[in-house]
Amino acid sequence: MNSADITTVKSILSQPQKIAIIPHRNPDGDAMGSCLALYGFLKKKGHTVHVVAPNDYPKFLKWMPENDTVINFERENPKAKEVINKASVIFTLDFNDLSRVGQMEQVLKEASADFIMIDHHQQPSDYAMVTYSDVTMSSTCEMVFNFIDFLGETDQIDADMATNLYTGIMTDTGSFKYRSTSSKTHRVVAELIDKGADNMAIHQEVFDTNSPSRLHLLGVALSNMVILPEYRTAYITLTQDELDQYDFKKGDTEGFVNYGLTLEGIIFALIFIENREEGIIKISLRSIGDFSVNEFARAHFNGGGHTNAAGGRSETSMEETISRFNDILKTYKDKLNP
Ligand code: 5GP
Ligand code: MN
Repeated sequence: MNSADITTVKSILSQPQKIAIIPHRNPDGDAMGSCLALYGFLKKKGHTVHVVAPNDYPKFLKWMPENDTVINFERENPKAKEVINKASVIFTLDFNDLSRVGQMEQVLKEASADFIMIDHHQQPSDYAMVTYSDVTMSSTCEMVFNFIDFLGETDQIDADMATNLYTGIMTDTGSFKYRSTSSKTHRVVAELIDKGADNMAIHQEVFDTNSPSRLHLLGVALSNMVILPEYRTAYITLTQDELDQYDFKKGDTEGFVNYGLTLEGIIFALIFIENREEGIIKISLRSIGDFSVNEFARAHFNGGGHTNAAGGRSETSMEETISRFNDILKTYKDKLNP
């Protein structure tokens, strides 16, 4: 954020505002953590604040401080619309294009509020009055910490805010191991622990609440894995029938895609998950090194994200999607074997 933006934000926040904070659809730990931490900060500053999530999110995020205040756009539609329509300021966190909020897109487009974007994904769209975009950042949570720092108010970060920020940095960095994890990330995390984030308890809340059915579903996913050494690629499929058989709940497949990358020599991993209700195959893509899954997802699967982590979708059947994917992969042989 440049100094002109900081001055603009300071001036906006010097008056009591009606503020809506929005994460992307299917919010993850970083989206919820950044929204809930910013919520805590702005409330302390005397604003009227609401977090409005486009849809539901996994149980392993629902223990987070202030979670009970979140409005779900799908479940509490009139209330959510009212908050957005009446807002004077709307923060959009952890996404950079209004298409990422699903059904909420039109409501946001019609809102009269000033928009402030805080995000670390590539190729931001130009919809905000203030755009704080930095693709080198580990997480939007690290950026919310910086945002509060730019305003000179990190002393306002309490244990609840620290817990929310720690959670998002932890989930978006794969527990502090992905390439975007910098020494500065670790300094921020250290400060969050000093401010009251209980690192061990947070790891347990997020990672150690498996159900037996989720572990069994992981077993199915791993045995479905197809390994293509000549393309240094591994992919997993999960059909709706398989999900139903193992009592699938939102979030149960989180992290499954990463197993492909633990194979020696594999640099490109995907998971294709059927969603019969939405009539789509949801795709998660991950890579190691310079192969950009953001570009791959943008070019072929109506998605995007980061160089090493992206998402997308296909509107054809699983069989057709996999067949198309295999055809596309053939054209990437050189890029995957540099
Ligand atoms: P995941 O595979 O965990 O759903 O998403 C990985 C990354 O890609 C996240 O940073 C997420 O925000 C982004 N992403 C996931 N799905 C989409 C999508 O459909 N479009 C875009 N532009 N980004 C996505
Ligand atoms: Mn993120």
